Amino acid sequence: MSDPAVSSLTPILAQVAPLGRSGLLPALQAAQSLTGYLSESVCAQIAVALGVPLADVHGVIDFYGLLTREPQGQTILRVCADPACALRGADGVLAAARARAEADDTANRACTVERSTCLGLCNTGVAANITRWDAAAGAFRNSVATHLTPSSLDALFAGQTVAAEDYVGGDLCIVTVLCGKGRAASLIEYESAGGMGGIRKVLGRMTPGEVIAEIKRSGLLGRGGAAFPTGIKWESAANAPGGPKYFVINADESEPGTFKDRVLMEGDPNRILEGAILGAYAIGAHKAYFYIRGEYPVAIERVRHAIEECRAAGYLGQNILGSGFDLDIEVRTGAGAYICGEETALFESIEGKRGFPRVKPPFPVTHGLFGKPTVVNNVETLAKAVYVLSHGADAFRRFGTPQSTGPKLFCVSGDVVRPGLYEAPFGVTLRHLIEDLAGGVTGGGLQAILIGGAAGAFAGEEALDVRLSFEDLRAANLPLGSAAVMVFNTSRDMRDVLVRLARFFAHESCGKCYPCQLGTQRQHEILTRVAAGDVRPDDVAALQDIGWTMTESSLCGLGQTAGSAVLSAMRLWPGRLGLGRN
Ligand code: SF4
Repeated sequence: MSDPAVSSLTPILAQVAPLGRSGLLPALQAAQSLTGYLSESVCAQIAVALGVPLADVHGVIDFYGLLTREPQGQTILRVCADPACALRGADGVLAAARARAEADDTANRACTVERSTCLGLCNTGVAANITRWDAAAGAFRNSVATHLTPSSLDALFAGQTVAAEDYVGGDLCIVTVLCGKGRAASLIEYESAGGMGGIRKVLGRMTPGEVIAEIKRSGLLGRGGAAFPTGIKWESAANAPGGPKYFVINADESEPGTFKDRVLMEGDPNRILEGAILGAYAIGAHKAYFYIRGEYPVAIERVRHAIEECRAAGYLGQNILGSGFDLDIEVRTGAGAYICGEETALFESIEGKRGFPRVKPPFPVTHGLFGKPTVVNNVETLAKAVYVLSHGADAFRRFGTPQSTGPKLFCVSGDVVRPGLYEAPFGVTLRHLIEDLAGGVTGGGLQAILIGGAAGAFAGEEALDVRLSFEDLRAANLPLGSAAVMVFNTSRDMRDVLVRLARFFAHESCGKCYPCQLGTQRQHEILTRVAAGDVRPDDVAALQDIGWTMTESSLCGLGQTAGSAVLSAMRLWPGRLGLGRN
């Protein structure tokens, strides 16, 4: 029997065929949106059109969590059960959704319910991602739902989807001034608030060298987690031989507890585009990729719309504002793989491959996307670069501390009165963030704070007066990471939290290197058994050994930090975890 999706593929393939293998993910995503899955005949047609071996097509599909070769229901409901959503009752929602789907219509497979890893909605959990057939569009569409409870599932199953607004607050309103309004600011609104001033000041008026010097003088450190100096990154790519050069916006934000880039993209996408235009100008790139995680449908739609607005207004395209500088920005969307936030895995993904990290060196600034000099910057970093180039490095340095300059975004979730995104200068204390800005701990006293996301570390009440700066956190042996701050009150079972963190890493390890592939599985197994009350004498030693081995010998940051939170919890509360003193 012929597959109806195959005939619908023709226009899609005509569009992506010129991209060759790099068009594989866009082709698969577009094809899956037609029927909800990728049949064998569809895979074969895509393989032929793009010149990719069929086995590779299968390998790519099986790597990404949002792609499937199995028929699905007309609705696919992915409920997050990672720590922040678990605190709000995710297990109960998941169980109720499964029971409901089964009772509704097993024969028609009306709804497929899955457990999801973090959806970047930690401030509004319990959250879910929904892929649903849209008859008007003739395609499956993605959306999100927040604040789910077992009783709110009725509305969800009836086709309604309600997503709450993000709470945005803090001591400063620098890059978040247009965020948290439940919609994206238009280009005109952004311009009215001073937006695109950086482009007007820089393009055709400052040399790329002057732009880089100003960024270096600002002391801006990357906001994605690695804290690499942005100016040095730009300078290295600008000076690298060969071309073309590429600029990549890394919006594959997937670290549990982290949602700052989503809020920025959904509220003020033009600011990120302005930062990318400035960065591309500095390094001499004429092509940029905006890689957004597939679980962020709202951000994807709003960024795409903002790109169209910028193009129409002359901020993108040929001869931008008469400066002689050309730039095109293309949106690429992730397909459900946390590892693609790692810069070299992200390149592989854009190139149409499984998201396996590459061995470094060589580094992206000389051998990046398609083997060419490439800068990858995080969304928040670019928002900050706009401020530096619009107002000057001195103005930027007025915020923060000498070594941690500028304003910072913090994602606060868990047991606090107001989970949300907070903008504050580097150097405020954890106490100020949690008690003054987020309203304090709910449901009991403070038991634990997870700082830096799943790859971060736990701290107790004694850390409340630690200042949030790179240097102060380093002195306290704590990471800033993605600036996620997850709060747990005294009623929470920390063993359960550890199991969920361990499950996350076991699920997201790409499997390329053994320490991480095996270590994350073993860590998850041991912690699951311990949480069930089956504690063995060598558990502490085994968890330490696994943690240290992963940290020291894994290929990329995922494996190197997969044991971090567990090791910190064992140091802090051995008795509370039921593991005995180590
Ligand atoms: Fe893959 Fe983990 Fe190795 Fe990174 S550390 S390459 S995620 S297996």
